[in-house]
Amino acid sequence: MNNRLNVDPAEVQKFEEMAVDWWDKSGPCKPLHDLNPLRLAFIQTHCSLSQSHVLDIGCGGGILTEALCQFGPSVWGVDQSEKALNIAKDHAKMLKNPPHYELTTAETLAKQYPHSFDVITCMEMLEHVPDPLSVIEACANLLKPGGHLFLSTINRTPKAFLFAIVGAEYVMKLLPKGTHEYERFIRPSELAAWCTQKQLTLKHIKGISYHVFNQSYSLSQDVSVNYLMHLEKASE
Ligand code: SAH
Repeated sequence: MNNRLNVDPAEVQKFEEMAVDWWDKSGPCKPLHDLNPLRLAFIQTHCSLSQSHVLDIGCGGGILTEALCQFGPSVWGVDQSEKALNIAKDHAKMLKNPPHYELTTAETLAKQYPHSFDVITCMEMLEHVPDPLSVIEACANLLKPGGHLFLSTINRTPKAFLFAIVGAEYVMKLLPKGTHEYERFIRPSELAAWCTQKQLTLKHIKGISYHVFNQSYSLSQDVSVNYLMHLEKASE
């Protein structure tokens, strides 16, 4: 790994360690499996996936990447964890239309393939990189005019500290301890301002609510913990 890249090796190491269990639906990636139908529904509500060239940045073992392939588009997944990518490639072997996986960063890809993608997803990754604005800038460059960007991350609120760190890592033990650091969480207003700087217009935002009693998630208006954003690049 190269430190000149916008990559925090300690953060990526956390995902290397959980990579072998990525597809275990009751393992450390359980929250990603549980959230997947909701984020897929959010994406499908706001753009058409058929005929689209789709890029999933920080794809990990490919939970969302594979789901996006069902709709017939050409899907690329990129990540900085070699182990997670190997798991992703292995898991996709049986698919008729497997994603193309690559060990790279959004910034490197933006130099190689500017204005190339109709849809970009970057889920649960921005809170693990040193400079999230640089990722947003790369997404803006990678998108075709009129392209769609879908982001998800965690808000920096006391409730998020309680639910996403204390609750998820220490009480419910849904995630390994140390997965998230509070200081890296991002307020929706900050994320929206970064996107505006890069000529991306915020179209929709939804919260993801966690229901403790039946351990399920739903899309909601409450963005105080996890949230999803849909943005559009201006058409030329
Ligand atoms: N987006 C996936 C996985 C989220 S876990 C999902 O929601 O299902 C966060 C992922 O981001 C990990 O796989 C980690 O290796 C990756 N990551 C962290 N920093 C990265 C960077 N700078 N570039 C690409 N991927 C990165």
